[in-house]
Amino acid sequence: MEKLVEVRNLKKWFWTGKTLLGKKESIRAVDDVSFYIKRREILGLVGESGCGKTTCGKVILRILEPTAGSIYFNNRDITHLKRKEMMKLKEKMMIIYQDPFGSLDPRMTIGAAIAEPMDVHGTVPKKERKDRVIELMGKVGLSEEQINRYPHEFSGGQRQRIGIARALATGPEFLVADESVSALDVSIQAQIINLLKDLQEEFGLSLLFIAHDLSVIKHISDRVAVMYLGKIVEMAPRREVFANPKHPYTKALLSAIPVPDPGQRRRGEILMGDVPSPINPPSGCRFHTRCDHVMEICRDKEPELIDSENSHYIACYLFSK
Ligand code: SF4
Repeated sequence: MEKLVEVRNLKKWFWTGKTLLGKKESIRAVDDVSFYIKRREILGLVGESGCGKTTCGKVILRILEPTAGSIYFNNRDITHLKRKEMMKLKEKMMIIYQDPFGSLDPRMTIGAAIAEPMDVHGTVPKKERKDRVIELMGKVGLSEEQINRYPHEFSGGQRQRIGIARALATGPEFLVADESVSALDVSIQAQIINLLKDLQEEFGLSLLFIAHDLSVIKHISDRVAVMYLGKIVEMAPRREVFANPKHPYTKALLSAIPVPDPGQRRRGEILMGDVPSPINPPSGCRFHTRCDHVMEICRDKEPELIDSENSHYIACYLFSK
């Protein structure tokens, strides 16, 4: 299948100023990351809070500018596209935020909120916009009668449906879903995930689905990329990641997923401590400060992300050939 989105050696560093000794410091939120997303594919991007997932999604959409590396959309290098050209392209690349309430104007009816991207990008003629809004509301499980209501009149799950309708308003090919279900109750999470999956199939969308919870990623992704402190440490087809996880960090994330029976304990690695600061991250393998298998080389030299077998990529000396 053809690639729709690709990033090569992508970096996003935020300069924080100078230290007392005059040295420039930066937060290395995304630090040399490469991956692709095929047409009609869902890539789940998972990792703890602060590992750079959201920044990565925003850089791909050029909401944030990359520090280095390249971004391709439909085989076109869009890394340095000018604002006007990028604006034209943005109708094809949309984002669904974690907090739809924060991204919706409380003074705007939901009909107007869903129509707004059509206005901004001019993708739907004015006289057809209302019909299109009603159609989209139906697709996401909202009724026409709700069109003149305001965001505060909706539940969290309904507001996320509004956010999805808004993201679909311009007919995108690619969506970044940024922790889109994280703030919802588990039962509502399942509904929204199913909705996203249905819409992805119906519209033939490609998705970068960002979440900190592997159990959420499991239900929607075709492939999974695990991110730790600005780096991809493991990437593989979903089944492979869940049946045969390799990187100690992935194993630890899997161990943290609650099991249905509290009497049953999930075996595996335990994740100790917090994510280190992305300002001056640990040398060598960034996970070495939390890894039970740390070796001397891990502290000195960064492991490369290599294909161990069958498109199962891993950055860990335990699996170096
Ligand atoms: Fe652990 Fe070393 Fe592998 Fe890093 S490279 S995950 S420290 S064994």
